Amino acid sequence: MGLDVAWAQAWVRRTAEVVAEHRLELSELDRQIGDGDHGENLNRGFTAVVQRLDALETPPAQVGDVLKLVATTLMSTVGGAAGPLYGTAYLRAAKVTGLDELDASAVVAMVEAGLEGIVARGKATTGEKTMVDAWSPAAAAAQSAAASGAGAVEVLAAAAGAAEEGAVATDPMVATKGRASYLGERSAGHRDPGAASSALLLRAAAETAGGSDPA
Ligand code: ADP
Ligand code: MG
Repeated sequence: MGLDVAWAQAWVRRTAEVVAEHRLELSELDRQIGDGDHGENLNRGFTAVVQRLDALETPPAQVGDVLKLVATTLMSTVGGAAGPLYGTAYLRAAKVTGLDELDASAVVAMVEAGLEGIVARGKATTGEKTMVDAWSPAAAAAQSAAASGAGAVEVLAAAAGAAEEGAVATDPMVATKGRASYLGERSAGHRDPGAASSALLLRAAAETAGGSDPA
């Protein structure tokens, strides 16, 4: 599948499914080092996103229109830290995807914009056991895949793989941002829920793009 507006909608719908499937697991991760609401927060948000997508009278024209709808919906329906963080990520990503179809460099720009949104909103950097630890390697992997000539779909797959590794790599980290930081050293030995959900949504992006010729 080309990374066009149909793909963007498929991505969002798949994200909603995956979040619903993993909501207990995400909330369980959050119970370990936070307040146990991350899965339910995101599930509420993406359920609303799909409802709004279904209710649109005029179909979205470009990839960025879909991402903007995700951003505004998450900001208004997801409480806690993750709503504004993901909302800002999707909003920044929407700004660089006012396009009919994403090529490899547009995928890089989209992932980088998402990362920048989270960093700006959360005032976070790598190594603090947050979703930044999934998005930062994802952006780097996307960049290097594109630089070595990979097509858009492969670039997305590289980002998803790196986000998954990044999420696993949060296990031993001590949290210094967000609710988990209240635990100090006791936050080590648990996966960051936001990094885990970030990996799920980037995997959903790659999965829905898969099967096409990565030209
Ligand atoms: P809350 O912590 O308000 O209950 P959620 O449980 O929905 O919100 O989301 C928690 C996730 O948000 C964390 O796992 C972490 O990835 C992310 N997070 C929290 N604070 C920050 C921050 N300052 N910068 C980046 N990410 C953060
Ligand atoms: Mg929470």
